[in-house]
Amino acid sequence: MSLLLPTFSAERGLAAVAKHTLVTLVKAFPTAGATAAGATAATGATGATADYDALIVISPNYPSAAAAAAAGTTPATSAPFPAPVEFVKADLDAARVIDAAVGSTEVTVVASEKAFGKRLLFASTGPLSRDYDDVRRYADAADRAIKRAVKAGARRPAITVVPYQSTKSVTDDATHDRYTQHVEVALLGALAASYVPLEARESENEANNFGLKVLELGWLPLEANRVADPQRLVSYVNAVEAGRILARDIGGSDPERAAPPLATEHICGSLKSAANVKCTVIADQSVLAKEYPLLTAVGRASQCVERHRPRVIELEYVPAGEIKETLLLVGKGITYDTGGADLKVGGAMAGMHRDKCGAAAIAGLFRTISLLQPKGVAVIAKLAMVRNSIGADAYVSDEIIRARSGARVRIGNTDAEGRMVMADLLCHMKEIAPSHTNPFLFTIATLTGHAYRAYGPYAAVMDNGPANRANVHGRLFDAGNVWGDPFEVSTLRREDFDFVAPKNAAEDVVQANTQPSVNTPRGHQYPGAFLVVASGLDKHGLDSTQPIAYSHLDIAGAAAMPPLLPTASPLVTLAAAFIAPRL
Ligand SMILES: [Zn+2]
Repeated sequence: MSLLLPTFSAERGLAAVAKHTLVTLVKAFPTAGATAAGATAATGATGATADYDALIVISPNYPSAAAAAAAGTTPATSAPFPAPVEFVKADLDAARVIDAAVGSTEVTVVASEKAFGKRLLFASTGPLSRDYDDVRRYADAADRAIKRAVKAGARRPAITVVPYQSTKSVTDDATHDRYTQHVEVALLGALAASYVPLEARESENEANNFGLKVLELGWLPLEANRVADPQRLVSYVNAVEAGRILARDIGGSDPERAAPPLATEHICGSLKSAANVKCTVIADQSVLAKEYPLLTAVGRASQCVERHRPRVIELEYVPAGEIKETLLLVGKGITYDTGGADLKVGGAMAGMHRDKCGAAAIAGLFRTISLLQPKGVAVIAKLAMVRNSIGADAYVSDEIIRARSGARVRIGNTDAEGRMVMADLLCHMKEIAPSHTNPFLFTIATLTGHAYRAYGPYAAVMDNGPANRANVHGRLFDAGNVWGDPFEVSTLRREDFDFVAPKNAAEDVVQANTQPSVNTPRGHQYPGAFLVVASGLDKHGLDSTQPIAYSHLDIAGAAAMPPLLPTASPLVTLAAAFIAPRL
């Protein structure tokens, strides 16, 4: 480690790494007059005690009689706030006398005798019934509410989530289908708002809770939530959040704090005691050069700086009992993307520490998996932790490099490094796939600006033939919609394969054109075709004797760029689609 670098204390760092907000189940609700601001002792039947200091009500509507009369409608229901929070309506009605914004998406704060800490915060989701509304409105409301609660001085807010109600019955109204996970999404939204970045936690200390503003998040279940096992829901949400913390810490950390060796230490350290998870690191550069030549080409310019040298992390989760499905995940972990010799200029480099969010999401998913211990699904991952540096030994356009698959890859642009570092790892997954039960291959990457240009903040999924037949895109699309981590479906087309086809006898596949992806038609789809061809998966289509399902996930839009904090997408959707059904 260079002495010129700012140092962080590994010892203190570990404590800061571990510190984050969790959800606890509210065991009891205070009765009128029994509360004292900031120190509410809620003692339940189990004897559990929690000191919640605010009550946040997240609700789709606030159908006061006056508002309904003004709108010429009748309230959707005469009891919009179910027990034990029915008192909220009277408090809000009183507040509305002086504040016409009550019930809008502005968060209302009122003093309430019956709320924890006498603090009542009401956060409306806004409309939910329109064709384009989705469950993220719950997450957005929770985000606003947590930020407001912290401003109000709350450190241990409790949340209750009022479900979507329409005038139609649940079975008659298809809009209800969008909100089946409204509680989980609201809680995850509240936890996301409570997140404090790793470097911020590391610059604080134990005495001030490593800078955490929300120390605990209570959840008060309502019967109307129709949650059969609230404790199970809490455990699931906390497992997902623990994974998201690791993903956000890695994805969001600066290029030195999360350079390949340090990020690798962090990931493997975080998973060291994870049950049934094995973590192996390849740090030997000669091994990497032999096994993963395309990855090594990208890493060439980083070799002269020891702390920037590439790593490959191998993760494996094997459950007890019979395995029915195997996920084989490849993650792009470009810890910093200068663009390489095709340097990112004009300010385009800033934010490129986020180019490791694919690998980070997979690392986080393993933490979630280790906490949930799903049955019947094995998960294997290879993470490419590489810095795309610029220097005398940098790989350049026009080079022809032989991939692990044997394909001769013509370099078109060194800024298209993500597909390079993943193609050999994907090839390796292709080689081992036949020895695993029902394998599904994935690449997960902040691959192209085009994905963001095309879809905004949505992840894109592209299936090959076998994956399309197995409806992998459909599983992700459906899970993403109800869990608030949505996907758009893209299709690999003949134009994408034409684009990367060899242009002369010296090459088998073309890595990229010379233009940025945002200026290239089908700029996020054709890299999927490159990955298929460069990894040799083109020989495992539906027409082959050994079809292998492969889906490419481009999360460049979904991962979020500064000043937004990283989202950890698509961890929530992957867990919902492949892990939750196995619990
Ligand atoms: Zn790049």
